[in-house]
Amino acid sequence: MKGWKGIWVFIEQEEGCIAEVSFELLTAARLLSRKMGLAEVSAVFLGHKIRELSDEILIYGADRVFRADHPSLEKYLTLPYTRVISELISEKRPEIFLFPATSLGADLAARVAARVNTGLSAHCTQLDINDRGELMQVVPAFGGKVMATILCPQHRPQMATIRPGVCRRGEPQKKKGTIEDVPVEIRPEDRKQRVVEVHWAKKPAQTIEEAEVVVAGGAGIGNQEDWKLVEQLADVLHGAIGGTRPPLDEGWISEEQMIGQSGKTIRPKLYIGIGISGVIQHVVGIQDAQMIIAINNDPKAAIFQNADLGVVADFRKIIPLLIEELKKLSKDKPVP
Ligand SMILES: Cc1cc2nc3c(=O)[nH]c(=O)nc-3n(C[C@H](O)[C@H](O)[C@H](O)COP(=O)(O)OP(=O)(O)OC[C@H]3O[C@@H](n4cnc5c(N)ncnc54)[C@H](O)[C@@H]3O)c2cc1C
Repeated sequence: MKGWKGIWVFIEQEEGCIAEVSFELLTAARLLSRKMGLAEVSAVFLGHKIRELSDEILIYGADRVFRADHPSLEKYLTLPYTRVISELISEKRPEIFLFPATSLGADLAARVAARVNTGLSAHCTQLDINDRGELMQVVPAFGGKVMATILCPQHRPQMATIRPGVCRRGEPQKKKGTIEDVPVEIRPEDRKQRVVEVHWAKKPAQTIEEAEVVVAGGAGIGNQEDWKLVEQLADVLHGAIGGTRPPLDEGWISEEQMIGQSGKTIRPKLYIGIGISGVIQHVVGIQDAQMIIAINNDPKAAIFQNADLGVVADFRKIIPLLIEELKKLSKDKPVP
């Protein structure tokens, strides 16, 4: 589309630390750039006292850094970040804008897309350029059974959030790009939000490779709300949470929690698989578990062939009962 050019990457930064996924997106942008006749790759970097971090962005693939450094941008807030970025888009007109599919990136990208009146593909696992020069945004759909390719032919920029882990950080290059400081004007309407307190999520106490108990969920869980049952069961058993590919695609688990052929191989004393069909790509990752318990409402599910104990049931009915019983047990003695 005429007048729109270049690829932008949003650089996620908190507490003076750039998120790894930002460097991964710079790699993705460089690959797209080659397919677009070496389109310029620019990084959009917001925060406060972030000057020293900017060089790192140039070293890992940006030709230009648009840097907005202002006290009001120190902690992430949707409204001021949206204001700065959407005004920058209107002025510079990038053709493509990539955001990390993190909670911050997803929140910001949706707001920015609405503000500049364009589309947004969320949680892309692959990007490419078609022969018309459009961004092909590949998103797993229907629990990973279909890979949908989304185009945004009529609006610019073409915007997408990309899952962490889709690309790797590139090799550091000799710094040769430029930094452009963006003037920041915060208006009263951008100050409706404020950060009261920040609570950092605890890192999982144990990884699925080292845990003695792993509770894994699959596509059968169906939604984020019901995923809490998987978490509660893992909690009461002092176990780690894992899953199949669909929960990863849905963003319920991280890359480190996927079990199977392209994920982790685990050897726990106890594995409980809930709403998991038991295809070979998953089962290869659990066959060394000492005990496999499968909960599935389909008696013909393949997972039962690998299970020491199979429960044919709707997990929504059985898991709450199981949690209740385990809690009673742990009152008498702690569950190991
Ligand atoms: C090259 C390649 C590599 C792959 N690598 C991996 C990998 O490493 N790990 C991985 O997991 N997958 C991997 N996959 C994907 C894999 O092929 C399957 O698509 C995936 O494992 C299926 O996950 P699932 O069992 O959760 O979903 P599904 O196969 O959709 O199964 C869902 C199950 O939930 C049950 N269910 C539905 N509702 C309920 C309910 N209310 N109560 C109880 N049960 C219910 C259903 O009966 C069904 O059996 C890979 C695929 C490819 C092509």
